[in-house]
Order: sequence, then C-alpha cells, then structure tokens
Amino acid sequence: MELTLVLTHACNLGCPYCYMGRKFGRRMPEQIAEKALAWTFKRLRPGDELQIGYFGGEPLMAWDLLQKYHLRAMKMAQAKGLHRFKGTVTTNATLLTEEKMDWLAAHDVVVAVSLDGIRAAHDATRPFVNGRSSHKETLRGLRVALARAPLTEVICVVDSSTVAHMAESARFILDQGVRVLSLSMNYAAAWDETSLRVYEAQLERVGDEFERRFRSGEDVYIAGIDAKIIGRLKGGLKECDRCSFGVGEVAVAPSGNLYPCERLVGEDNDPAWVIGHIDRGVDTEKLSGINRRRVALDPVCQACAIKDRCMNTCGCSNAFSSGDAAVPGALLCLSEQLNARVADRVAKHLFWEGNPVFLRKYYYENELHAAQPPTLMELSAAGD
Ligand code: SF4
Ligand code: SF4
Repeated sequence: MELTLVLTHACNLGCPYCYMGRKFGRRMPEQIAEKALAWTFKRLRPGDELQIGYFGGEPLMAWDLLQKYHLRAMKMAQAKGLHRFKGTVTTNATLLTEEKMDWLAAHDVVVAVSLDGIRAAHDATRPFVNGRSSHKETLRGLRVALARAPLTEVICVVDSSTVAHMAESARFILDQGVRVLSLSMNYAAAWDETSLRVYEAQLERVGDEFERRFRSGEDVYIAGIDAKIIGRLKGGLKECDRCSFGVGEVAVAPSGNLYPCERLVGEDNDPAWVIGHIDRGVDTEKLSGINRRRVALDPVCQACAIKDRCMNTCGCSNAFSSGDAAVPGALLCLSEQLNARVADRVAKHLFWEGNPVFLRKYYYENELHAAQPPTLMELSAAGD
C-alpha cells in the first residue's frame, strides 16, 4: 500500500507550472497525521508492504512533522510485522542539509529531487517565490543527496517554454552523477505544433544520449525510455507496474480529505477528486465509479500497437492531459508513442552491438532472462 501525507501547502519556490496551486501555507495538523496512520495500519496485515510518501508544497518546510510521523510509522510497521516499509520524499532540495540527508538515509526515506536541468531551463520554471534563481541551491542539495544516496532520482519537468533545452538538460543532470532521471512532460502547458516538433527532436537526442552513456559503460535509467524497454521485454506492463489510483494508493491533504493520488490534491478545493475524508474513510461508490471507467480502454487504445506498455491507465496523468482520469489525453498519447519509438530504437542498437551494460541490466539484473527475450527479428522490426 502507498500512503502520501501532504505535510504542508507552503513552499519557498514559485514554480509557474505547480499543480499544487496557491501556497496558502496550511500545515497538516498532528491529529490528521495520527488519524491517517491509524486508518492505514488498520488496513494492513502482517507481511504486507507500506510506502509512505511525504509531499507538499515543500515537505522539508514541515521537517518536524516528517520526522515525528515517520518515526511513529516505523514503530507501527515493526509492531505490525510488515514485510517492507519505506518512506519517500519529493523535494526541491534547496533546504536539504547533510544532517537532514543523514537522517533520511538512516531511516529508509528515499529522496527524489526536482531539478529542471540547465540554468536557463530551471530559472524559467523553478524560481524562488521572490523570483531569484534557485538553481545553485538545488544543485547543492542534489550533491548532498547523491553523496549519501547515489541512486537519488531527479525529476525534470519538460515545459513547452523549456523544451528546446531538454536534451542538454538531460545531459547536464546525468553529468552531475545522477543515474535515475525522469523527464516529465508538463501536460498542462500550452503546446503547439512547433513546440511538439521540438519535443520529438529533443527526445530523439535524449535517446542518443542514453546510447552514448551505455557505450561508455554507464548504467543510467531514464524513466520514459527505460519503462518502455522493460515493458517490451516483459511482454507488456503487469498489473503491479500500473498505477493503483485510490485502491493501493491514497493521499491525505492537511484538511483530512482523501485523494486517489497526491498530484490531484492541488489547493484541496476540487470535490471531483475527493474520495473521502480521514474521519469517514473512502467513499467506495465514488472511487469505484472513477476506477470502473479508468480501466476500460477506449477503442482507439484497444487497437494500438503499444497498448500493453502505455501508461494510459494512470489516473492522474490522464486527468492532467484530458481532464478525465479515465481518458488518456492527446499529449499523453503522443509522448507515450514517442517514448516507445525512441526506446525501441536504442534497445535495438544496444542489443545488436552486444552492449554488456545493456544486456546485464535488461536481461539479468531485471531477471528478464527468466522471461522470453525478444528475438533479433523482433528487435530488427522495431525502430530504425
Ligand atoms: S517546488 Fe514543488 S511545490 Fe514548490 S512551487 Fe515548485 S512544483 Fe510547486
Ligand atoms: S499510445 Fe495512445 S492510442 Fe496507444 S494505448 Fe497509449 S493512449 Fe492509447
């Protein structure tokens, strides 16, 4: 199960694309955090797994709450006999210090850092609230995180205003020593034909960079590309790879409102996405109404060659791209197709070359050797 606590609506950055909306500073009251843990643990059985995400705003602005409730949850997990328990925190890293990172690493909290790449891109989308650049502080925080956790993920949002920097930004981020990178298209931005063509060309260049890194012996993970390669080798995404929107996953807002995903909390004022309250539990009728529609693929998707490895059932991505959790929007559809095309191209090249990093990562480390690997003919048919 995944529980996300939105610890605060406050943030020290003023990113124009922020889907959490206005920063009115509301913190999660302690009794809401306590109820959220009690509610969650009541649903868990010995041997289950739990991941708690700490989210904001900027969650490190509620550092005391994060520490207090993570320690509480750790004790509860131990008493319950959970099989696995960990925390995650998504941060802009400007407030991340060595002491905080030591604490997080020592308490099994995995950190993800938001950094939009080179300074020109990052400054356009992730300034401090007073407009000053946060690039230097974010890079400092990232270095602190990487020194203790080399697999720290960087989330880089690609906006239509910064898309021309995408490949250079990906390269810049990987040059910082980052091995896990997510390039996340901002579906809510204003994309036109020109910016989409730039996106396509830039994504191909990101694919070139992926190949170049593997050839120089680096094992990097670039989310969109990597997931499409794994999806193909596994013969499609399995149920466990897909989003568990509202079922295995729930987010709690500072007000106590429950949401199927933390990305939909926003300013906590859209009843369309509220699936209950911590005092009353989940409104199962409302949730199953959302989910019934979400898992039924529309006829266009049914006929699509990449339907088995497409994220078209991710409720929040659908909501951001089309306004409806059940319907993949045009931008999601396009980016999934482009990611699959680039992934197939780079996989074909690296497989044909017998690249040892590629073969080890995808055929052995992922235990895919137990599955049926694609034949050379299949790989030849993919990409150019
Ligand atoms: S750092 Fe995160 S929460 Fe803060 S404004 Fe930027 S996107 Fe929003
Ligand atoms: S790529 Fe587009 S058409 Fe194909 S399955 Fe995904 S959303 Fe549907």
